[in-house]
Amino acid sequence: MQVNEDGISARTGLVGVFGHPVRHSLSPRIHNAAFRSQGVDMVYLAFDVPPEQLRPAIDGLRALDMRGANLTVPHKESVMVLLDEIDPLAARIGAVNTIVNSDGRLIGHNTDAAGFAAALRGLVPDGARGLSFLVLGAGGAARAVVSTLVEEDAAAVWNYNRTYERAAALCVSASEWGSTKCEPIREVKLREVAAQADVIVNATSLGLGASVKEFVIPVDTLTSGHVVVDLVYGSGPTVLVEAARGRGAVAMDGREMLIMQAASSYRLWTGLVPPVDAMRAGIDGVRKVTT
Ligand code: NAP
Repeated sequence: MQVNEDGISARTGLVGVFGHPVRHSLSPRIHNAAFRSQGVDMVYLAFDVPPEQLRPAIDGLRALDMRGANLTVPHKESVMVLLDEIDPLAARIGAVNTIVNSDGRLIGHNTDAAGFAAALRGLVPDGARGLSFLVLGAGGAARAVVSTLVEEDAAAVWNYNRTYERAAALCVSASEWGSTKCEPIREVKLREVAAQADVIVNATSLGLGASVKEFVIPVDTLTSGHVVVDLVYGSGPTVLVEAARGRGAVAMDGREMLIMQAASSYRLWTGLVPPVDAMRAGIDGVRKVTT
């Protein structure tokens, strides 16, 4: 797997991200920095794949014998029926963000859950065990987050979502995953629960363009006792991270989770211990919106 002097050869392996939009993605920087740092003969490119082109894109992945791919918005769920196998964690979350091409068999994985778990440990070294969480959102990312929280025996999870029925469905799933109590809540309870939770996780897509007033929770409920994890990130602090820090809370945006989910994908493709520092350095100074 050693790289030639000029970097790319007839043997160079190809991976990439399929998304729409995708031109803002930081994943090529993260992965190519990792490949370079470990002398792995692979390259990572971004492919703008609109929904109607996903099937031909997956056919192309097979035809070109790509080593694998990442999936981002809007493909994480729709890709599942196009693959040969879904690993159990991705199946339970209901979303695939990583494909591994294993001798022609395309296997779907979800590394967002591991990425969140690793990022959370940056703020809470012992992980979720014993802590209570308010999770905002009930899409694919929220399902990965709740899966991790149940896996780690969090004391309690409250789930708030704009569309209540999706929160209710997520909590039904969570009750099948483990013993952590998951309660879907309506807007009227948000203030009380936000004040009570140890950790607040934003897994909605809201957080960059929105003003504090438009944000999902009333930010005046935040205190220095809260830990806040926003999955969103951008060219500066997100609305939630800024408000949380302003009120004395410990807060982190989605960059670290992005790097750690990339690290898990990298391990699946290469079998190597991911060079996380090189991956971080790959996007140092680049702060743009992506997953
Ligand atoms: P998704 O499946 O489309 O879910 C979006 C969620 O956001 C839904 O719960 C949706 O509520 C909610 N939402 C959207 N607009 C809203 C609004 N205006 N007000 C309140 N709620 C709103 O997306 P996803 O894949 O779960 O991703 C969610 C976020 O996490 C995205 O910002 C994504 O970029 C980020 N993410 C980050 C990482 C990382 O590594 N840092 C990884 C994965 C995802 P409804 O159900 O009511 O529509």
